[in-house]
Amino acid sequence: MKPRGPVVAIDGPSGAGKSTVSRNVAKKLGFKYVDTGAMYRAFAVAVEDEGISPEDEDALKEFTKRVDVCFDKDGHIYVNRRDYTHRIRTPLADRLSSVISTKGFVRERLVSLQRRIGEEGYVIMEGRDIGTVVFPDADVKIYLVASQEVRAERRFRELKEKGHRGSKEEILKAISERDRRDTERSHSPLRRAEDAVVVDTTELSLEEVEERVMKLIERGIKEWK
Ligand code: C5P
Repeated sequence: MKPRGPVVAIDGPSGAGKSTVSRNVAKKLGFKYVDTGAMYRAFAVAVEDEGISPEDEDALKEFTKRVDVCFDKDGHIYVNRRDYTHRIRTPLADRLSSVISTKGFVRERLVSLQRRIGEEGYVIMEGRDIGTVVFPDADVKIYLVASQEVRAERRFRELKEKGHRGSKEEILKAISERDRRDTERSHSPLRRAEDAVVVDTTELSLEEVEERVMKLIERGIKEWK
């Protein structure tokens, strides 16, 4: 079904600046903002809570079938009505979500929920496979990239602010591991959609990235105005 309003897909690897930029731009435009990474994270932490091992395919499939993942109007994330908002930004959630998101049946379930969340349009959805799989007909597709070192540095500062310890080297290693899993998985691996515009944020300030993204979106959604 074609969405009733514009859909903006923002993809790219961890730490390229997708979340902050998407959230700010969505606010300016009055669009809904959907962080699909938060859905994989909350789902993965819920799997851990259930005591299910990611290797136990039967138990995982059973849980996936009866799972509901959704946001409330304040952007809080729920799995089967339990609020996971404050538990998804930890190094453990980084790793669990990266592992669980390689499973095809998990992706199928979350993708169908994501399509439902975005079906009204007027939405900025960010993740890894939005422009390639979730909304291949999105009106605007942007692919944000940055060097691994800069992404690790950003993540290091973010975690430090939250009181997490850990060296930059560890974070760089974890990012490179997540990149590898994201790009090498057989189900919807991370890749740029052919019609996506690449924005390299390595040398750009947040304001500069936002400005570029805003211009691309305004150009791409003209027909809806
Ligand atoms: O974007 P974020 O780092 O919060 O995503 C958490 C994890 O979920 C990533 O490591 C990635 O493997 C996975 N993910 C995904 N597809 C998406 C969004 C996130 O596989 N659309």
